[in-house]
Amino acid sequence: MNSVISPEKIDQYLKHLTSVPHLAASPRNNKLADYVLAEWKEFGLEDVHLVPYDVLLSFPEKISVELISPYYQKLNLREKIYKEDPDTQRTDVGIPYNAYSRSGDITAPIVYANSGNPQDYEYLEKKGIDLKGKIALVRYSTPYSYRGFKAYTAEKRGIAGLLIFSDPNEDGYAKGPVYPEGPWGPISHIQRGGIPYDFIYPGDPLTPGWASIPGCQRIPEKEALSLPKIISVPISAQDALPLLKAMDGEEAPSAWKGALPVPYRIGGSKAVVHMLVKMNDPIKRIFNVIGCIKGTEKTDEIVVVGNHRDAWVFGGYDPSSGTACMIELARALAQAKKAGFVPRRTIYFGSWDAEEFTLTGSTEWGEDHREWLKKNLVAYLNVDSSASGKNFSVQAVPSLFPLIVQALRQVKDPSSGQSVYDSWKSGPSEKGTIAIASGSGQINPIGSGTDHAVFLNHIGAPALDMTFSGDYGVYHSMYDNYYWMSHFGDPGMHYTATLARIWAHMVIDLSCRHLIPLDYETYTRELRKYLEDWAELYDSRRKKSKGLFLLLSDMEKRALVLTPYLMGKKTGIEHIPEENIQKANQLLIQIERDFTDPKGIPYRDWFKHLVFGARYTYDVLLFPALTEAAEAGDEDKVDQSLLDLEESVKKATLKLEEISKLITTN
Ligand SMILES: [Zn+2]
Repeated sequence: MNSVISPEKIDQYLKHLTSVPHLAASPRNNKLADYVLAEWKEFGLEDVHLVPYDVLLSFPEKISVELISPYYQKLNLREKIYKEDPDTQRTDVGIPYNAYSRSGDITAPIVYANSGNPQDYEYLEKKGIDLKGKIALVRYSTPYSYRGFKAYTAEKRGIAGLLIFSDPNEDGYAKGPVYPEGPWGPISHIQRGGIPYDFIYPGDPLTPGWASIPGCQRIPEKEALSLPKIISVPISAQDALPLLKAMDGEEAPSAWKGALPVPYRIGGSKAVVHMLVKMNDPIKRIFNVIGCIKGTEKTDEIVVVGNHRDAWVFGGYDPSSGTACMIELARALAQAKKAGFVPRRTIYFGSWDAEEFTLTGSTEWGEDHREWLKKNLVAYLNVDSSASGKNFSVQAVPSLFPLIVQALRQVKDPSSGQSVYDSWKSGPSEKGTIAIASGSGQINPIGSGTDHAVFLNHIGAPALDMTFSGDYGVYHSMYDNYYWMSHFGDPGMHYTATLARIWAHMVIDLSCRHLIPLDYETYTRELRKYLEDWAELYDSRRKKSKGLFLLLSDMEKRALVLTPYLMGKKTGIEHIPEENIQKANQLLIQIERDFTDPKGIPYRDWFKHLVFGARYTYDVLLFPALTEAAEAGDEDKVDQSLLDLEESVKKATLKLEEISKLITTN
């Protein structure tokens, strides 16, 4: 498998995928659906087909932003052309915009609100600035929050218009050499992106919780809770500069200051801006591409791998490097099949559409096949983007930790020559990560922001998302293209090939082992850690959480017995009757589902998982219902959430017990 996967082939796919901008529902992105379909058919995948959904998308017709006082200046709203990079000279890169911004025409004084988080506006209010009807200028990052959360926060504060800029402090010249000399964003780069409130529900805003199959029912736009009611435009640092220069008022706190050569004032009176945004929000047809490698058909168990195909512009790293990686994964596995490889379980490949809008294609497919997936989905393995550098980075549910480690041990790091596992565990650790028992590598708890959401948060299946990360300052700009990938992100495509190999090992392990290799010992241990962190904040004497801790100990005991069997360390598994194996696997699949609540979590019932969630900012939120209840000081809800979790752990423990009876009789 390692030698079949070819960096040269990946490079060819990437060149093709990135040669023309391919926004969702554009003729080019639909052509790329046909391209993926044709490649997969040629490789020999089975049942390859397009799956159409009709969904609400959002495109700009006209956007202009101008400073009208104290002097006139029209903002450029375009990125600079470079002669080295022919892609930047194309005329079809489109108007940079925020998808699902409202249309509007407003003229108002501008305030600077740092990152646009609630505490930023509180600071301005304390300074006596009236926010109602103002235009807010905010920055991406520092502290990071999802741009849709910035829009949501501004809307709640009565802000009329939002301008979001990329400060060179976060992703530009303050970090290092900028494009086209280096990987960081030049001063004119613009981060496009959707601003839907997908933390309430992702997918088509007009079909919350059901699939947008052609002809389906829809709610009116005004009832769609995921649609913003504010107008918003993304701008470059270059365009933010004249606005910041024109602003008066007090100087902003030092933490609010970035790398632009201005004092960063909070504004509020002197500088007046005119924003005109005319959007067109049509229902458009999008296409997922689905294909599979059929298993032995002893069971209906399935493993799904996925990546999105649509890009804001050329999509060099995000997502076409991931798409190229998945095409090559399909080729390698299809070739193995021709050589006689038949997995026990069916492997599905999903090329999702319109992820950039609101995780649309994957969400609609997940909702479309909810009952089938609930019953049969073993795990979902996502690669949004494959390599912007050399640092392996993964977010996952704990039952998949050993699978990850196992795969990393079997694949070589192209730079060091040692295993990826060895480079990874000695690498720099990221903030907010957790160590695993079998090494000092770091696996991040899984949050939100890409296509795994429907599978993990809605269906309740084990999921992961992985990449090789590095210096990357051109996110959602037109500079995220082939030139960037081949000069900075992954020259020679060696790390993308490495990721395809890691992915292949995981898929083979999950689809071939008699007993599904999900590790509930690690799962339980991690749950206890999450609960300890929670208790330290909200229940340090463990008055309320004691019962749950006890139940977790019980679950861990049950899981420990099974670990050698599930992790393939026990001989004699072949003597277990096939019928028992099948029953055990069906139970194993359902354990993650035990941690979901069909009612969903409060205020956003699309999200069913009781352990893994995300904040509105996209930050990981463990025990979402429990934590939010504790933060709100709602003791009744805390009690209820603890009871729900106790129920989940009890159900899971019972299943582990049943599995023991089925497979450990000797
Ligand atoms: Zn992406």
